[in-house]
Amino acid sequence: MHGPRRLVAGEDYPATYREFVAMFPDDEACLRYVEELRWPDGFSCPACGSKGEPWQATRGRLVCRVCRRQTRVTAGTIFDKTRTPLTTWFETAWHLTTAKSGLSAVTLSRTLGASYQVAWAMLHRYRVAMVRSEREPLQGDVEVDETLVGGVDHGGKPGRGARRCVVVIAVEIKQPTGFGRVRMRHVPDASAASLTPFVCDVVVPGSVVLTDGWVGYSRLPEHGYLRRATLLPASGDPGTVSMPGVHRVASLLKRWILGTHHGAVAPAHLQSYLEEFTFRFNRRSSGSRGLVFRRLLEQTVVTAPVTEADVTGGYDW
Ligand SMILES: [Zn+2]
Repeated sequence: MHGPRRLVAGEDYPATYREFVAMFPDDEACLRYVEELRWPDGFSCPACGSKGEPWQATRGRLVCRVCRRQTRVTAGTIFDKTRTPLTTWFETAWHLTTAKSGLSAVTLSRTLGASYQVAWAMLHRYRVAMVRSEREPLQGDVEVDETLVGGVDHGGKPGRGARRCVVVIAVEIKQPTGFGRVRMRHVPDASAASLTPFVCDVVVPGSVVLTDGWVGYSRLPEHGYLRRATLLPASGDPGTVSMPGVHRVASLLKRWILGTHHGAVAPAHLQSYLEEFTFRFNRRSSGSRGLVFRRLLEQTVVTAPVTEADVTGGYDW
């Protein structure tokens, strides 16, 4: 075993759109890239475990020299059995990771000349891959608070039949100023039964959790957290925000949903959008968008195929 190798721009990932086009002219080039991401230390046969250069059979199929079993390069990844060309998938990943605020399925379908359904399904599958990269729990001082998302139509008025969703947000607070990483979850309500498991899943025990006085956070000390509750005086300055980090992130999230996605986020799919926002927010200071593109593709090869039901009915997180 050796440590992760240093990645080189223009070689391991494209730094510009020009390089992207040059690196991925056809599906063969995309398949070779997926193969390299799946087996960074060289092919290893999933059937017999043998290592060593495989034979190349038909497009995208590798044949083990020992047991002669065929392995599809995309088997077990989110590209498994797709009818959409890999070049289209790659172009979607490029736009998704390099556009500052991402893009909607409508914009993507126009950009690619693909149908809305194809564009939407690709974005949705990439969002599932994004969640996998957010495994490291938050630590240090972490603000946690809930916010309400949705339920407002384009005119800013409460929409007919629109439902407001409770989203709980955790933000790392840096000293002396600034924010670190975030995590978010769409929860059924603001009860302790909804809030406690979220904190336990996303924050390292022993961390200081900053909350307001809400009883829904009262069980945190039982789970090894230091809860610091801030109680705002009832007659306080109306401009005072009890949880400035969460407040800031929540307003960016709402602006993104209204701007990029025109507020059209169904409750069944809200968590997927939260994952995309989180992926982008947590990489906001990455110097190279091309490297973020590679990181997303690295996740796709370790993300199990997403079913059609997951795409239409909402992924079961
Ligand atoms: Zn084999």
